[in-house]
Amino acid sequence: MLKILKSDECKLAAEIIHSGGIVAFPTETVYGLGADAFNANAVARVYSEKGRPGDNPLILHIANAEDFNKLAHNPPKYASALIKAFWPGALTLVVQKSPDLPEWLGGHPMGKTATVGVRMCANPIANTFIKAAGIIAAPSANKAGRPSPTTLAHVIEDFGEADGIAAIDGGSTAVGLESTVVDITGKEPVILRHGAVTQEALRELVSLEKYTEATDTPRSPGMKYRHYAPRAEMTILSGTPENIASYVQKYATSTTIALVNKTIAPFLDASAITTLILGDNKEAIARNLFSYLRECDRLGAQRIFAQAVDTEGLGAAIMDRMTKAAEGRIIYV
Ligand code: AMP
Ligand code: MG
Repeated sequence: MLKILKSDECKLAAEIIHSGGIVAFPTETVYGLGADAFNANAVARVYSEKGRPGDNPLILHIANAEDFNKLAHNPPKYASALIKAFWPGALTLVVQKSPDLPEWLGGHPMGKTATVGVRMCANPIANTFIKAAGIIAAPSANKAGRPSPTTLAHVIEDFGEADGIAAIDGGSTAVGLESTVVDITGKEPVILRHGAVTQEALRELVSLEKYTEATDTPRSPGMKYRHYAPRAEMTILSGTPENIASYVQKYATSTTIALVNKTIAPFLDASAITTLILGDNKEAIARNLFSYLRECDRLGAQRIFAQAVDTEGLGAAIMDRMTKAAEGRIIYV
């Protein structure tokens, strides 16, 4: 059974880490599933408990700025500007790893990694915990492929039966989407994953040309990469609120849920179709998305129609997660 800790039990959480245990903890983005970054057995267990593929590295969470210098080897000059602007916060920096460190650090202990992804969280509970525990390696605290957890209840859904795992209750996470991952190993930074720190905010800091966006090459036609996914088959609908509403009205059945924003309300007969309003701005949509995907499962949805957002600002991260949850299914109406 998962052991639940209160938010003022960070010291106990750190002791669990020091004795080789695993602790789920709140951050401002989503809950993480943490282990002592230097304990190979504990890190291997994070992979096996999650069912995470061994080639997908973990973020190293730090609470002291000096730890970045211990982990990173020759970071570029622009790294300090990014750190100053966005740490503590939802930005993960991928840097060359210091040669003094274990070859596997930051990844699965059976493998080797040349780089590490490092982040300093803004959540005070996370920072108290990490200060006491030391550097924590953590992916999101969900089973692989499932929507990331934004409340303790989500962590319990995925790991409630697990023995030897504790979870700190930190309420709902403020942002609701994962950190932005930026590769800073080259002359110019590259966004590897859109997240809570927007590309527009990054661009403001360093001249526009210096940011190229990595194109996430689809692994197979139709982008068959399932991630963040509910059990129901999800389809994204892109178009005017009026057109989306009439598509939903035409094709929804009793087991369909419409995940929409407020713009659609005047056009959709909510009494006939199960409708969840994600929010009326992107911050709210980001905060609610994963929670509502899990809610769709709880309600027994077999099909989800999700209203697209534009890709400005936080919209890029929202559409990235929606597209993966929908395995690339998008209909322009
Ligand atoms: P999660 O915490 O589950 O959102 O996953 C962590 C994310 O950070 C994944 O997308 C990883 O691929 C990425 N990440 C962590 N470390 C590295 C690294 N060294 N190089 C590239 N990506 C990384
Ligand atoms: Mg994850």
